[in-house]
Amino acid sequence: MLPELLKKKSFFFHLYKIDKQIAEQYRAMPCPFCGDRLYFANYFRKPRGEPDGFPKEYFKRFSLCCDNQDCRRLVIPPSCRFMGRKIYWFPVIISVVSDIQGSILETGKFDPSGYLDISRNTLKKWLNFFKNIFPLSAQWQSIRGQVSANVKNNELPASLLNHFLNAKSSIKDGLSACLKFLSKGFEIGVKIRAGEVHAEDDHGLLQLNNL
Ligand SMILES: [Zn+2]
Repeated sequence: MLPELLKKKSFFFHLYKIDKQIAEQYRAMPCPFCGDRLYFANYFRKPRGEPDGFPKEYFKRFSLCCDNQDCRRLVIPPSCRFMGRKIYWFPVIISVVSDIQGSILETGKFDPSGYLDISRNTLKKWLNFFKNIFPLSAQWQSIRGQVSANVKNNELPASLLNHFLNAKSSIKDGLSACLKFLSKGFEIGVKIRAGEVHAEDDHGLLQLNNL
């Protein structure tokens, strides 16, 4: 059921609008390092897994840079669309991993055949990440307390996604809320000095970037 939603451009536009709104909130805040003004320094990403005919604008990664010449740090706002530098869209990763986890619970088997565009190896890396790395990560620990204890650490992200699907009236709103929630955790460690390292190569996201 979830993958159907991922074939809709309107869903990605919905996430784009959420990202834009969050970025504008960050833009209105002072630089977290020196207190100076932040301005937009957006760039384009090219993840995989979107519907055909996707407008270029949807690939825009909102990013901010400090106006102070002595600081010049980048501030990367949380995103519902991009998961670090993953090669697939964030909603694709969360939906597909949750779907596979559900079928493993049901059948006891890992069956990658329904996800023809994504390699078996990539799927296994995602499953391993959410089983063995993410539950122990600072990213998850920083937001864990904000959701019900019924969300199971050993069934992430499926258990978290179900939590939001149950709380919302549509799959679109449930998945969006889940992504927005997770993005808050991935905000850690993405503020670095412009020009020194790529924004999302920072140590806080290294584990995510190895997927
Ligand atoms: Zn600054």
